[in-house]
Amino acid sequence: MFSKSFTFIRTKYISIMNSFIRSFFSLPLTVALFLTSPEVLCQTYVNDDLSKSPQSDFWPSGKKMALSLTFDDARLSQIDTGIPLLDKYGAKATFYISPGNMLKKAEEWKKAALNGHDIGNHSVLHPCSGNFEWSRGRALEDYSVARMRSELDSANRLIESIFGIRPVSFAYPCGQTFVGRGAGVQSYVPVIASMFESGRGWLNEAPNDPYYCDLAQLNASELDGKSFDQVLQLIETARANGHWLILAGHEMNDEGRQTSLLLTIEEICRYASDTANGIWMDNIHNVASYVVQKRIEESVSAHRKGIITIKARPGAKITVEQLRHEFWFGCAISNGLGSGRMEENDLINYKEKFLQNFNSAVTENAVKWGSMEPRKGEVDYSVIDGILKWTEENDIPIRGHNLFWGIPQFVQPWVKELNDDDLRLTLQNRAETVTSRYKGRFVEYDLNNEMIHGNYYKDRLGPGITKLMAEWACKGDPDAKLWLNDYDILTGNRLADYMAHIRKLLKQGVPVAGIGVQGHLHGETFDRSQLKMALDSLAVFNLPLRVTEFNMPGQRSKYYREKIQVMSPQEEELKAKELTDYYRICFAHPAVDGILMWGFWAGANWIPVSSLYNRDWSPTKSAQAYQDLIFSEWWTKGSGVAGEDGTFSLPAFYGKYRITVNRTAKEVDLKKAEGKLIVDFANKRK
Ligand SMILES: [Zn+2]
Repeated sequence: MFSKSFTFIRTKYISIMNSFIRSFFSLPLTVALFLTSPEVLCQTYVNDDLSKSPQSDFWPSGKKMALSLTFDDARLSQIDTGIPLLDKYGAKATFYISPGNMLKKAEEWKKAALNGHDIGNHSVLHPCSGNFEWSRGRALEDYSVARMRSELDSANRLIESIFGIRPVSFAYPCGQTFVGRGAGVQSYVPVIASMFESGRGWLNEAPNDPYYCDLAQLNASELDGKSFDQVLQLIETARANGHWLILAGHEMNDEGRQTSLLLTIEEICRYASDTANGIWMDNIHNVASYVVQKRIEESVSAHRKGIITIKARPGAKITVEQLRHEFWFGCAISNGLGSGRMEENDLINYKEKFLQNFNSAVTENAVKWGSMEPRKGEVDYSVIDGILKWTEENDIPIRGHNLFWGIPQFVQPWVKELNDDDLRLTLQNRAETVTSRYKGRFVEYDLNNEMIHGNYYKDRLGPGITKLMAEWACKGDPDAKLWLNDYDILTGNRLADYMAHIRKLLKQGVPVAGIGVQGHLHGETFDRSQLKMALDSLAVFNLPLRVTEFNMPGQRSKYYREKIQVMSPQEEELKAKELTDYYRICFAHPAVDGILMWGFWAGANWIPVSSLYNRDWSPTKSAQAYQDLIFSEWWTKGSGVAGEDGTFSLPAFYGKYRITVNRTAKEVDLKKAEGKLIVDFANKRK
């Protein structure tokens, strides 16, 4: 079935590409594409100040710059002479392939991919402006964003079917990033940002600043026709600034038009392999993924760390030990803990592992109205009381999930039977009693869960009901913090709806204290750029964000759909990577205040394989990965001696610390809101 359709695609593409390539090379107009004024190109470099010191230590192993060689269109000379030369030096390049050309040498291209070369997408039809007559039948002026997306998706699927890997790198044909004409012109850069890790331009003639560059619009400089000396000038400029230089070429041969010269390539390889030259040469994917990771690290340092300064006598011995994070690394607490119905051995493990891993909590089911009052008037507070007793004994802040939940199937039948007046009174009573009974004990409440997915109370009582709910909750506890909480947001699917909903509530004057995003709805993996984009979007409200109900793998994975309870070692490995990448992106984002998992033990988790611990309490790979991240990589430990001025300072993650000077210890909090902390041991009275 597959091979049949594949043959069809292949034949179709070859015929399209053949005619396309014929027209490409027969028309002299093509030349215009490559005629860019050399004066303009040179200026960028001539004006650069080579004496500037390179940008800090962005690149790995003390390298001063990154360099990527890239080649387009899957020209035959790349396979025949180019790749063998690169392989001789172990150099890894990126090839943005045109499927029609690639299929002529599919086996050789497969080998190149196995050898570490990055195979990128370069569209199917190579659409450029119709000013190039050869492109008039597929002119960008006549494209739509949707057509472009679908073409790029076809190319991705074709490449994946051959190489077994979906491309993550893209190069804009002719370096052009628009579709349409005049007032209807649109950029297709956003499509690239959502489909690929990176998008490379063409003839931009400048390197990329790794701290700043938009990965969806990477600059490239021309390699075709250049001597090594010309390339060396580009390298020197990039190195002086710590930049990432991307060279782009076509044919790889000794001579000819649109040709990167083998002699030049060989000299680049030799030069880059001399460690004294400080060059990290690698393919686009390897460099781009490093840039993403490094930026996350920098963002974590910038937003999650402050400075602790200790004043003591000169020469005093000082140790600084972190005791907990200020950021909420939390988890849902299952009813079994509060009800005492969990088996004793499990309960002991549950409590112990919870405290080892988490500093904050949310009630999984205990506060839901349907669990507390399934029948009218019979309200069970015992589970909540049991949970709060334990969290308070252990200094675990906890969120109350939730006061209301208007998805119709979760509204108790007796509530639905009430007439409007009684319903309103009953809601008021519910909100007031819970918040007054637990005044000051829940840090925050989810006011009305999942409103964009279903809102029975609004449907019955009108759009003003949310504000009334908030007023009633505040009557019971004037300091109650009321949060929103919804799902399918961090996937991007309902992000725009959620934002519109939040705007509406704020306009109505609903006192929204924070924005909860659940984090259940991923599959086996998640879209990193989408997660970041969703957090960036929600940050515009200037309210704290929490990922309130995180599962990985999530609800769209096969594990949930098919109720699979066991993972292979490879799947465990992937899960650990997904989980830590997720945490990194959230922790690096300044608007996020916490992440709470929705279960950590397979014995009490609706997606059992998303747990840190198996049913028998053996840890999964994810438990180790999680702990390495939170209690090692993001954990501050320091010791030293106070200087001559009696001070000792160190950057530290926000949180609680024990500071010991000689033998005196103090517990202190380094708070994000303050950014720094001075602890005075010199003044005896303190
Ligand atoms: Zn091209």
